Amino acid sequence: MHKASDSPVDPRLPPIEPATLTPHGHCRIVLTGIAGSPGVAYGPVYLHAGADVWVDNRPVPSDAVESEIARFLTALAAVVEEKRELKRRAEREIGTAQGQIFESHIMLLEDADAIAQTVECVRTSRKNVAYCYFVTLQRVIDTIIGTGSYEYLRDRVVDIEDVRAAVLMKLRGAEPQGLDKLEEVSVVVAHSLTPSDTARMEASKVVGFVTDRGGPTSHASILARSMGIPAVVGCQGASVTISPGEKAVVNGFSGEVYVEPDEVLREQIKQWKQQLEQRARRLLEISRLPSQTRDGRRIRLELNIELDSEIQRTAELASDGVGLFRTEFLFLSSDEWPTEEEQYAVYRHLAEAFGGRPVTIRTMDIGGDKLCRKLHVTPEMNPFLGWRAIRISLAQPELFGVQLRAILRASAHGNVQMMFPMISSVEELDQALMILGKAKEALRRNGTPFNDSMPVGVMIETPAAVMIGDALAKKAAFFSIGTNDLIQYALAVDRDNQRVAKLFDMFHPAVLRLIHAAVKAGHLARIPVEVCGEMAHTPLGALLLVGLGVDALSMAPGSIPEIRRIIRAITFAQVKEVARAALDSVSGEEVRRNLERAAADFGLDIGVES
Ligand code: PEP
Ligand code: MG
Repeated sequence: MHKASDSPVDPRLPPIEPATLTPHGHCRIVLTGIAGSPGVAYGPVYLHAGADVWVDNRPVPSDAVESEIARFLTALAAVVEEKRELKRRAEREIGTAQGQIFESHIMLLEDADAIAQTVECVRTSRKNVAYCYFVTLQRVIDTIIGTGSYEYLRDRVVDIEDVRAAVLMKLRGAEPQGLDKLEEVSVVVAHSLTPSDTARMEASKVVGFVTDRGGPTSHASILARSMGIPAVVGCQGASVTISPGEKAVVNGFSGEVYVEPDEVLREQIKQWKQQLEQRARRLLEISRLPSQTRDGRRIRLELNIELDSEIQRTAELASDGVGLFRTEFLFLSSDEWPTEEEQYAVYRHLAEAFGGRPVTIRTMDIGGDKLCRKLHVTPEMNPFLGWRAIRISLAQPELFGVQLRAILRASAHGNVQMMFPMISSVEELDQALMILGKAKEALRRNGTPFNDSMPVGVMIETPAAVMIGDALAKKAAFFSIGTNDLIQYALAVDRDNQRVAKLFDMFHPAVLRLIHAAVKAGHLARIPVEVCGEMAHTPLGALLLVGLGVDALSMAPGSIPEIRRIIRAITFAQVKEVARAALDSVSGEEVRRNLERAAADFGLDIGVES
């Protein structure tokens, strides 16, 4: 075993332990969730109601029934008043016809039957009024859908949902407002944030966020990491426990939220932040050194990015290129479908900004937790098993063709490669390649330049893809393992459900064997294999992946310095041994313990993010 001092860079850094904070007794309440994005943030709370309407179902004590009903009537009256104001404004600025929409909302709000049924429900079932109102209006919606004239009555359903959302928000004391219009620098607290919410978020105004729902690989967490915004997710009850305007600390390392911290805790946080900055500066010192193990194995370190606005900033960082450009955020962050020209402009910008370094553009992965009304991707019972990613693209060859042409055109301006998400059969890959062939033909006909030999890779995200890895490898220029999905599909654990978050175990031997099989299949066919899932950015995960033989790791920009430090401290020979033992382990816990031991042997203090 090499000693840490043999390394040109001492891998040890001052440990940053959340345990050094003593929040208890120094704030109104400590809430515990899941660490979604590292960092610490402090600020006033903005409670975001969003379009995601939800209700809790809780009993109301008998002596609180009347006040619960009064609360409902007050909320209704307030929403009616708001709608009247909207109606006046619409009539003034747009025209009478638009004002009529709000008139129909007011009629719904004042509907005597709906009010009576809701009040009756609170009195007889002793359930909270939000729940009773939700159920009452749901019955109306179900009746409309049941008439078989849903197409014709779709607008009516939308109106009812709109009114219901407004009343439920009012009952929760939250105001509907887009996160792009935040006026004050805030900690955003929400029941859940959709990827569109997050993509539209004004990064300079949101210092941190907390959600009741979600896990570390939910797309809201992924975006938060990309944007460098500390986040705590899966923090059950946060949005009803924290009030707008209260001050909160988001500890994105430990997954804790400290509400209304006192002077002592604020001072501790300030000092802790200074230590973090010091650590970041130390990491930056090694950022220009090669990402190479001590026995000389080079591991490419690449970036995962999501937004056009990130391109310029991240191109200046020390990296080997872009391992994953998630194009779907282009589609989610705007109300209009991006045209070929618009997409081309973004992909070209990406290619040019990174010069000769490879940039890997993934075709859109809409669906799952990334819903998109434009494509009529509506909520499904099992969204991650449903109409998602390549399945949507193949079902809409016209739209897919637009994206493929835009990517191909960008390939004339840099080192562009492309990959398909969520492949689970050879037929899917063949079909996607056939549509790509047609896109090439169309460009050729017009004399539009593109790189005919642009490498096209396959994402390995389903156990099925691993099992047919040999067949896929014959048709792919590279593999990119999406561990976020591979783990959820292998372990049958929804990556977005905080109730099962503990079962989402990247060290589960089944997951490791799948990764190992994918690496073997790729290398047998002499194609490179990389990992672009979140496992790549965790210190222990990266150590293990190197041992399993992957060629490149792709991650959020903020994680690159730390993973470079890890790689420079280890030897390939030794982590290969660790990986071999991990493949024979019986539990994720055993794997984790062995990895921690190995990291300590390398002189590595594994920070707060493992
Ligand atoms: C993955 O599944 O690991 C991945 C990188 O893709 P996404 O997180 O966008 O589903
Ligand atoms: Mg995926």
